[in-house]
Amino acid sequence: TAPLITAENLTRIYQLRRGLFGKPTPVRAVDDVSLSVLPGEALGIVGESGSGKSTLGRMLLGIDPAQAGRVTFEGKSMPEPGTAEWRALRAKMQLVYQDPLAALDRRLTIAAQIGEPLEIHDLLPKDERPARVNSLMAAVGLRQDQADRYPHELSGGQRQRAVIARALATRPKLLVCDEPVSALDVSIQAQVVNMLRDLQEDNGIAMVFISHDLKVVRNIADRVAVMYLGRIVEEASSDVIFASPQHPYTRALVSSVPVPGKPLTGRTILQGEPPNPANRPSGCAFHPRCPLAADICRTTVPALRTIGVQRTAACHLVEGADAPLAA
Ligand code: SF4
Ligand code: MG
Repeated sequence: TAPLITAENLTRIYQLRRGLFGKPTPVRAVDDVSLSVLPGEALGIVGESGSGKSTLGRMLLGIDPAQAGRVTFEGKSMPEPGTAEWRALRAKMQLVYQDPLAALDRRLTIAAQIGEPLEIHDLLPKDERPARVNSLMAAVGLRQDQADRYPHELSGGQRQRAVIARALATRPKLLVCDEPVSALDVSIQAQVVNMLRDLQEDNGIAMVFISHDLKVVRNIADRVAVMYLGRIVEEASSDVIFASPQHPYTRALVSSVPVPGKPLTGRTILQGEPPNPANRPSGCAFHPRCPLAADICRTTVPALRTIGVQRTAACHLVEGADAPLAA
């Protein structure tokens, strides 16, 4: 199968100025990232805050421009953002982000907002739109009597369900979900994630699911890419990532995810400072926190290399790489 979306060598650099007279320093928010997603596939992107995962998600949709690299959707280069061609394409690729209250218009009823994309993209005859809105509401578990409510009259979980219904209105082929449940009560996070997964599977929608929380991603992703300071450091199928993580950072993340019925043994606690894109360590950016860091790690950036079937990692010490570290 051909990928639905492909990103090649995406890079986004912004200038950070410390203080009024500070010299601008280039910050690489996303650094040479390549990935692809098949139709109907769910790719999880995991990383701490500051890893560049949200920026990457926006770059995939063309919302944030890239300084280098390119995105291909359905075999064609992403049109210039803001153009009519790009706006038309946005019906096929939708974004759901963390804060549903910010995503919704407080002056519009829930039904009006869910139906809005049908108007914007002029989909369906006008008289068929209300029925479509009703079925979208049912699909995300909203009651019909909530159609005329306003966002502030709903709970956080209900608002995010409305945002998801609106994102599905155009029957998108790709859904980018950026921390879609992080702002919700822990008690309802699993419900919303499971609902998203069912909708994604039943409708064959490709999904990029971005989260700092590996256990949430595990529930939904077929494949997982782990990001650290703007780069993908490991990528493999979800099962493989959890069964045998190779990169020391992935190992630390996986070791901190509780498995029901098993004690947390062999847990690796991440030492040191969380990643700060404005202060990237030399060589392997993870080296100040890595329990295995060797001399080469401080000087040389490890390339992302194939280490098995459909599996890559960027670490000098990972076995199976073509150029293993000399002792
Ligand atoms: Fe650790 Fe070195 Fe591998 Fe980076 S390259 S993860 S510092 S062992
Ligand atoms: Mg984020």
